[in-house]
Amino acid sequence: MIDKPLALKGPSRPMVRFSGVSKSYGDLKVLDSLSLDIDEGEMVTIIGPSGSGKTTVLRMLMTLETIDDGVIYVDGSPLTHMAKGALLVPADRHHLRRERTKIGMCFQHFNLFPHMTALQNCTEGPIHALGLSKQDACERAEELLSMVGMIDKRDEFPARLSGGQKQRVAIARALAMRPKVMLFDEVTSALDPEVTGEVTEVIRALVSEHNLTMLMVTHQMGFARDISDRICFFHNGRIEEQGSPQELFGSPRSGRTQQFLAAVNEAF
Ligand code: ADP
Ligand code: MG
Repeated sequence: MIDKPLALKGPSRPMVRFSGVSKSYGDLKVLDSLSLDIDEGEMVTIIGPSGSGKTTVLRMLMTLETIDDGVIYVDGSPLTHMAKGALLVPADRHHLRRERTKIGMCFQHFNLFPHMTALQNCTEGPIHALGLSKQDACERAEELLSMVGMIDKRDEFPARLSGGQKQRVAIARALAMRPKVMLFDEVTSALDPEVTGEVTEVIRALVSEHNLTMLMVTHQMGFARDISDRICFFHNGRIEEQGSPQELFGSPRSGRTQQFLAAVNEAF
């Protein structure tokens, strides 16, 4: 049991708060007392070497992992925990099922339902998890498929879509649940270079036209620099350094950040 605030109050409360979150796999400490606040409408990008814990951060926000220590809050309420009297106790399944609808995620691999059309992929969650009528779910899905430029392919199955097209449907599918927070984990890494632009353009439009809170992991430094409000450089499960894109890319303070950025620049 944890003696922590049951809810975050006040006008400046963050949309997402990691408060002293740790996670180990056996002897390996993947996240080491991570504290990170993300404001409503903020776009935060995590960069860092492979194995530094970037995906783990997103998986914990998606409640795909349990945490060993600390608390994660979303929109002012605890996600990983629930109130029992004046204390927080680990969340039960019911709490997780309800709270996780606040979070949408797109992965490197699209994970579309292969036996459903693009449209059905986008209506499945809203009908079954949110209880929308079929008609309302279809209207919402069509609007989102239009936004990602995929309305012409609404009746195609994933096998007949290109990687970039699948990823755009995956983004529409996640948005159809009307999440408060969207997570993107290397969504262009499995794509051919010539189609990464069609996916990054969709994310760019989301940033400029919607007040969604977003947390993104990417290796595309130029893209991260263009669209992020803040960049966090991860190293060994900790935030080694964070700042505006100008600060972090323009004048990194930490030797580790400098080394990482130099190696990335060399590779591209
Ligand atoms: P990144 O996304 O930064 O490349 P990850 O968050 O995927 O890193 O992984 C961080 C570390 O945790 C890696 O060393 C990885 O091997 C380890 N790890 C991740 N998931 C598991 C798991 N389910 N079991 C054991 N080790 C894991
Ligand atoms: Mg990863």
